[in-house]
Amino acid sequence: MATTPASAPERDAAAEFPMLSVVAHPLVQHKLSILRDRATPTKIFKELVDEIATLLAYEATIDLQLDDVSVETPLERTMGHRVAGKKLTLVPILRAGLGMVEGILRLVPAARVGHIGLYRDHNTLEPVDYYFKVPGDAAERDFFLLDPMLATGGSAVSAIASLKRAGATRIRFLCLVAAPEGVRRLTNAHPDVPIFTASLDRELNTQGYILPGLGDAGDRLFGTR
Ligand code: URA
Repeated sequence: MATTPASAPERDAAAEFPMLSVVAHPLVQHKLSILRDRATPTKIFKELVDEIATLLAYEATIDLQLDDVSVETPLERTMGHRVAGKKLTLVPILRAGLGMVEGILRLVPAARVGHIGLYRDHNTLEPVDYYFKVPGDAAERDFFLLDPMLATGGSAVSAIASLKRAGATRIRFLCLVAAPEGVRRLTNAHPDVPIFTASLDRELNTQGYILPGLGDAGDRLFGTR
């Protein structure tokens, strides 16, 4: 399911952003195009975010460690596998990240869910946590930080710093659409964090929206446009 960079721009992106995985699966790309369409209504938009999140999580879990387990089938005892370690933890960045949670929980139902809320300080223009709650044993967990849009990267960088302060060492960032500016900033600040996305888009506009993008993900998810 992973991407093989085909075109020259894809090869350039792979060279500049070694921690970025663009999930090129046909179903992801099909669903993303419907998501981008300005005519897609809120109900369908929400369902597509949910479905793409599931497919991104499938890719982002590809190297989870396994333990061997013994299983008693109705016929005999055999050896199987179980995901090792503490339960995976999903952390949506409020509010748009919430749209990705259920789709991933369908794949990993035992995952824990933390939350990070951020606002931008009017004076410093820096993101500040107004809400932060994750499991206490953060050092022993794998974290999936969720935000549909990686735009300037400010929120993602700040949220990852907060997770690391809480003890997290294994963090992956999942988004639907990424801007090169955001990937660059995140990778510079946190080179240890793999990024999974359905698309690396062209650029940010002067208002910080991703082009071609899909508009304001939170507004489109919650119908607050
Ligand atoms: N946040 C969004 O919801 N959309 C963008 O294009 C950029 C940031």
